[in-house]
Amino acid sequence: MTDNRLLMPELFGSDVFSEAVMKTKLPKATFKELMKVIHGDAELTLPVAEVVASAMKDWAVEKGATHYAHWFQPMTGITAEKHDSFISPVGDGTAIMEFSGKELIKGEPDASSFPSGGLRATFEARGYTAWDPTSYAFIKDNALYIPTAFFSYSGEALDKKTPLLRSMEAVSKQTVRILRLFGNNDVNAAIATVGAEQEYFLVDKKSYDKRKDLIFTGRTLFGAAPVKGQELEDHYFGTIKQRVGKYMEDLDRHLWALGVASKTKHNEAAPAQHECAPIFESANLAADHNQLTMEIMKKVALEHGMVCLLHEKPFQGVNGSGKHDNWSLTTDDGHNLLNPGKSPMENAQFLTFLVAIIKAVDEYADLLRVSVSTAGNDHRLGGNEAPPAIISIFLGDELTEIIDAIVENTDVQSKRSQFDIGISNLPKFPKDTTDRNRTSPFAFTGNKFEFRSVGSSLNISDPNIVLNTIVAEALDEFATELEKAEDFTSALHELLVRTIKKHKRVIFNGNGYDDAWVKEATEVRGLPCYPSAVDAIPHFCDEKNIKLFVKHKVFTEVEIKSRTEIQLENYCKIINIEALTTVEMASKEILPAVMEYEKTLCETLLAKKSAGIGYNVESNLASSISVLAEDLNNKIYELEAVIIKAHGITDIFEASRCYHDEVFATMQSLRAIADQLETMVAEKYWPFPTYEDLLFNV
Ligand code: ADP
Ligand code: MG
Repeated sequence: MTDNRLLMPELFGSDVFSEAVMKTKLPKATFKELMKVIHGDAELTLPVAEVVASAMKDWAVEKGATHYAHWFQPMTGITAEKHDSFISPVGDGTAIMEFSGKELIKGEPDASSFPSGGLRATFEARGYTAWDPTSYAFIKDNALYIPTAFFSYSGEALDKKTPLLRSMEAVSKQTVRILRLFGNNDVNAAIATVGAEQEYFLVDKKSYDKRKDLIFTGRTLFGAAPVKGQELEDHYFGTIKQRVGKYMEDLDRHLWALGVASKTKHNEAAPAQHECAPIFESANLAADHNQLTMEIMKKVALEHGMVCLLHEKPFQGVNGSGKHDNWSLTTDDGHNLLNPGKSPMENAQFLTFLVAIIKAVDEYADLLRVSVSTAGNDHRLGGNEAPPAIISIFLGDELTEIIDAIVENTDVQSKRSQFDIGISNLPKFPKDTTDRNRTSPFAFTGNKFEFRSVGSSLNISDPNIVLNTIVAEALDEFATELEKAEDFTSALHELLVRTIKKHKRVIFNGNGYDDAWVKEATEVRGLPCYPSAVDAIPHFCDEKNIKLFVKHKVFTEVEIKSRTEIQLENYCKIINIEALTTVEMASKEILPAVMEYEKTLCETLLAKKSAGIGYNVESNLASSISVLAEDLNNKIYELEAVIIKAHGITDIFEASRCYHDEVFATMQSLRAIADQLETMVAEKYWPFPTYEDLLFNV
């Protein structure tokens, strides 16, 4: 829908039913009432919804929309939508455009085709979508999109938005309790803010179309390393190629029209890899906008003859793609609580939040790991370019020194300020951590935390649900203890010292890729280490984690169990598709190509032999290739056998283990043989585009 002639200020949000648009389109009283609803100060009533629906429809129809769609995020992770037209026949052969308050508030898509992980057996099959007035409606492809939550008849969440909203409420509530203790009576809510940096690859559509692996799995299942990789480090922040530049420009315009504040764009470390980062906003909006961003990225790429790959590891041996989830807490009056202050009082409050986060991450590192666990992200975590699978916190040297000093000077009592907790002699807090440790999974970057383990294709709701909830829990424990204290200052000091001592083990400023770190983290510090998704996901159901989510009303026990099942099922399905594609490509494309080349070699060999010319080259090459081809053929049989074995396992925990330990492992060894063959077979025989073609031809 973007109009290329629009200038930036008119373009931004031009397809969004934003607050500014509402202000002009809604009667004053309705606007006021709706704002109250958006800020959580009032319940939505049908009369208000009627007026809003009608205004929304008029605005949408004016912009060319013919349909409306309840837009939601089922547990597949991607978005779903059900379209209905505004058309309403009036009986005389004509029709009017109608949209009622009821239609705005509630939809009833068929829930049975979405994963529910056993929820459906327990509850009703019907699913409902409910308007989320905190996320603006927008226009895309001639339809009015209404962001909604998706849940079952009995109220179980069937989506990613519902628990995210619940977790935002939980962390808001506990944050306000802490702020009250610091004498702040003005703030009534806190908002979890998120800015998600999205990494991606662009490949040429013509090359893409020749690779079944890219088409079916989003990543290459075969491919020998290119002669030139990223070793020259000439791509990171390098000049953007013209074709890519045009794409980025077009992408930005599409995103801006939809109110997505895309801000930064640059090349990433790997060839053909890029990044797009928006300005942060509330976690809910950020999640909706990131889903939209991913969708638009793919769509616009096609218009430019390219394909946008969002997979975490499209190319083996080349940097993978992540999605840095920048997270912080902001008060409803706009104060970032992770901004170190200038005064000791501000610093004490900042430290309280900082230490609560340290405690939260240490106690629930397993949940953070679970929230980013997918088959795709397994290639990143633990690979040598992404954060390791072990969750630790990077604070930077200065902040770590401060933390250390607080613990060591336990008896320093301030004489200067009521709230000073022994930090008056400490150096000024670093405003910006210049040391950018790229190996840390969870890094403090000046005024926010950056969770780097998130995979590029993931729905950011999952990690943010966990972050919000675990921080809510730590703040809850702090508040409960401090509310009872007779002397707040000394109680706070004692609490912070005790908490830091207990959870310091999760702070690590060193190199996360170092093997020594794995040893130290697991053997000395006792941090959990789950190398694969299959190791991590079952811990979602650990007793302590169920207790946490139930307590903060983010998930019920049934919801957790169903989500665990869905996550494991998803893992199995992905490996299964990859394995089947591997078999298909190896047997129908690679082996025939290899045999074709062998034939040429043998024909040359025979011709040379009869001419009395030496034929050592042909003979040696044909023999080596022949041995490898036989190995490859055996591996195909082996892989087929383990696929059948995995299909036969009904228990999802057991099945996922089999997919990981046997199916995936066999795929890898099969690939190694095929990749070796690729280096020996003449280029013109190779059946699909190589890494060189894919990485350097955009
Ligand atoms: P980097 O060097 O990692 O790219 P940037 O300063 O460019 O760091 O910020 C990265 C992301 O962090 C951006 O999306 C930005 O909007 C987001 N961000 C900045 N401040 C906050 C905050 N208070 N809460 C959440 N995200 C934030
Ligand atoms: Mg970053």
